[in-house]
Amino acid sequence: MSKKSTARRRPAKKSAARATTRTTKKSSSRGAGKATARKVARASAAKTAKKTAKKTTKKTAKKTATKTAKKQTTRKTATKPAARGASRRSAEPAVFHFGRLRTDGTGTMKELLGGKGANLAEMSVIGLPVPPGFTITTEQCRRYDEGGGVMPEGLMDHVRTHVAMLERETGKIFGDASNPLLVSVRSGAAVSMPGMMDTVLNLGLTDRGVDGLAAAMGDERFPLDAYRRLINMFGDVVMGVPHHAFEAEFDRVKRALGVTLDTEVPAAGLQQVVDAYKRVYREHVGRPFPQDPYEQLQHAIEAVFRSWNAPRAISYRRINEISGLVGTAVNVQTMVFGNLGDDSGTGVAFTRDPSTGRNVFYGEFLVNAQGEDVVAGIRTPRPVAEMKRWDAKAHRRLLEIKDLLEAHYREMQDIEFTIERGELYMLQTRTGKRTGAAAVRIAVDMVEEKLIDRREALRRIPAEDLTQLLLPSFTAESKQGVPVIATGLPASPGAATGRPAFTAEEAVQRTQAGEQVLLVRNETSPEDVDGMHHAVGILTSTGGMTSHAAVVARGWGKCCVVGAGALSIDAKKRAFTVGSKRYTHKDLISIDGSTGEVLEGEVERRSPKLSGDFATVMQWADEVRTLRVRTNADTPADAKRARDFGAEGIGLTRTEHMFFEPDRITAMRRMILAESRPDREAALAELLPFQREDFVGILTAMKGLPVTIRLLDPPLHEFLPHEAEAQRDVAKAIGTTPAKVKQRVRVLHEANPMLGHRGCRLAITYPEILEMQVRAIAEATIRCRTKRIDARPEIMIPLTGTRREMEILRERTLQTIAQVKAEAKFAGALDIPVGTMIEIPRAALVADRIAEVADFFSFGTNDLTQLSFGYSRDDVNGFLPDYLDQEVLEKDPFQSIDVEGTGQLVRIASERGRKTNRELKLGICGEHGGDPASIRFFREVGLDYVSCSPFRVPIARLVAAQCELG
Ligand code: PEP
Ligand code: MG
Repeated sequence: MSKKSTARRRPAKKSAARATTRTTKKSSSRGAGKATARKVARASAAKTAKKTAKKTTKKTAKKTATKTAKKQTTRKTATKPAARGASRRSAEPAVFHFGRLRTDGTGTMKELLGGKGANLAEMSVIGLPVPPGFTITTEQCRRYDEGGGVMPEGLMDHVRTHVAMLERETGKIFGDASNPLLVSVRSGAAVSMPGMMDTVLNLGLTDRGVDGLAAAMGDERFPLDAYRRLINMFGDVVMGVPHHAFEAEFDRVKRALGVTLDTEVPAAGLQQVVDAYKRVYREHVGRPFPQDPYEQLQHAIEAVFRSWNAPRAISYRRINEISGLVGTAVNVQTMVFGNLGDDSGTGVAFTRDPSTGRNVFYGEFLVNAQGEDVVAGIRTPRPVAEMKRWDAKAHRRLLEIKDLLEAHYREMQDIEFTIERGELYMLQTRTGKRTGAAAVRIAVDMVEEKLIDRREALRRIPAEDLTQLLLPSFTAESKQGVPVIATGLPASPGAATGRPAFTAEEAVQRTQAGEQVLLVRNETSPEDVDGMHHAVGILTSTGGMTSHAAVVARGWGKCCVVGAGALSIDAKKRAFTVGSKRYTHKDLISIDGSTGEVLEGEVERRSPKLSGDFATVMQWADEVRTLRVRTNADTPADAKRARDFGAEGIGLTRTEHMFFEPDRITAMRRMILAESRPDREAALAELLPFQREDFVGILTAMKGLPVTIRLLDPPLHEFLPHEAEAQRDVAKAIGTTPAKVKQRVRVLHEANPMLGHRGCRLAITYPEILEMQVRAIAEATIRCRTKRIDARPEIMIPLTGTRREMEILRERTLQTIAQVKAEAKFAGALDIPVGTMIEIPRAALVADRIAEVADFFSFGTNDLTQLSFGYSRDDVNGFLPDYLDQEVLEKDPFQSIDVEGTGQLVRIASERGRKTNRELKLGICGEHGGDPASIRFFREVGLDYVSCSPFRVPIARLVAAQCELG
């Protein structure tokens, strides 16, 4: 293990890329020079993107989860043991009705009725045309699970009562031969999980019903079409019959008839399809397709219950960090048909543009189609604006309802509707998922429209989604000369370059092997979520802006282009063609999620221009928050970028990065190889001017704001090469023998370098290193101040574990400052605060003692996490995925602070430190400083500031404001 970690931490050229990756991943500072630092900056954008994808649907889904939890009961309540929930709820009905005759639920009952059920109830209450139905509560799903997959006692009796109510309301009879009531059965949890759980349509149809319906309608084709869909969906979703087994039969009939489209198959052909489907069903299930509608219904309800724990649902919840929900509700709703002919249709729409946030009605519809056709992306739909020409009355009514819904919910809605023979029905409304840019624009617009106030606007923007606005994208210039091979729909903004992966599994495997892949599919389905999540971008050849790929990608803020019809994809051969040109899994492809362009090769990405709305939101946030936000920056360029993003100082400058530039590394190595103090001092004297210039640059970029400079932290062996050839080069450059270099490397070797001779321990052994760095800081400060640049450095000692270490090093630091001041005859005050990182658990425990000799603490939560868990930062990925999969840990403690354990150390150190030093300033500069959940915790503990990477500064500002809004 030691070998591995040593190798990983080498600053040798060959490992630079790896070091960068690691640095980026874990925000460790090791093995990076300025060039690397630049890479780090670039990679930090990539990391943010990755994080965006990972955490960030954490995005809408997580937001919705949080909101849901907040709105009804607390999330904790939701996770309380079942027994308590059960007794609390024993009096609650198992089934809630909605319709014209009666509606039992309301929109606030998401936890119990699921989002879909609650909103169907709410829409019914406000008088919208909702086909009547009922919702079986999430509590029943919990009981089903806990009962080992047995229907809760009495549930089917309730269901029968509610079906009878539907029969009264619709005048149709469930299972009737001539006038059958048909229903849809859908899942719907408290948190929106698009496509995650299964739907069965046309349920209730039987052989008798098909005949009766055909006679009543004078149309044989429609009932047969509905029946084959039911057998297919019921077989697939409820009984696990492979979908392709049905599909193959349909294809066979179409081939025999010489037609290509489903709609071209006449009634006789559909009868053949139905017969074949029933055969397929019987062969796979072992019994005939059920002719008792209640048997169908019970099986379907159970299937929805079971789907809550289907692997894809579990994956989605894991990816989106959704926890604390008891199960899914089941919505049973009277069918309305969008496929009754050319006067019928179905569609989905957003009340505002979910990509940009523009206040325009934004949706798509298909004539003569059933709802699933739009969402599944099987046919490319038409924009909703065109609906006016098709059915002006229905279009007008839809616009009225859109306005009504927005006014009612005061939030952008995502709706599903069906027109049955000219009559408009609403099937669903929910808070619409949107990109980060849209979230900002909608929030600002809605404040202007007086729909919400500023506080609500700030609350509604998922902070993590801001990264989407800050990330680099392709520009017109960077795309110049790059061939555009196809154009699809700009489903989710961003820019991605990668090599095509043609299945979700392939995308996962290749990403895990370190490749950047684009998931290229005809369309995506819920089974693909893991692959979609791993890919850097998603490209589909079919589907519209509301297809599965589009909705999920947008929710995650992942770049996505859909409906690029020019692509002909052959997943088996791992290739696609556009015209005569063929692209394989080896070719680099770029996609622009803002324009829908698919480009050949790699395209350079550029930094975005921020909108006025973004600035407005940030200003509102600054007016509310009390927690300060600084940045971690090692170069003037990073400092400036962070300042532009609103950083209020630097919380951590890692000085080790400064020693890797070619003009310094030799002096650094000479210093390390020196055998006496005078030799070491001579080498340090060479480094001094470089350091001074570095500090002048950073202090100038951050003038007027505090800059915390950390003294050298990594073990010295990181600066020496380990390969023989490189050691020979070093020996030559320094004027010594390769043997000497080799021997020094051997001496410096440590079994556990992270626990070794690093941090303040270096300064205890080699005070001259500290003295050089402090001198450089003091001289740079004097230089700036004499030029009237308001330089405000703070000196930070790393890895302190005892008061004595701090006492000695503080004394040395202050002496050096005084000496420099005297030498320079500087008349002004040189009051540079001297503080320490708290990153060793012992330091947290004795913080009261350390605070007596420190002006500030900055929590190094990377090391504090490493040391409190005993997980090596460098090796944790060997087992962390298993820990997360098996839920040993809820989340990666290196990304989001472990409040229960490591967090306690932060709390203890803060309390104890302030007890002996009331003026003690408290901050955090570990990776957690940019993580929303961690920021909330730090605010609660009472830290003065968080410090994070430049790209996360706006996120931290918004979260800090949200902390104050409750
Ligand atoms: C930390 O440990 O949290 C920290 C900021 O220091 P580094 O990552 O450089 O060890
Ligand atoms: Mg550290």
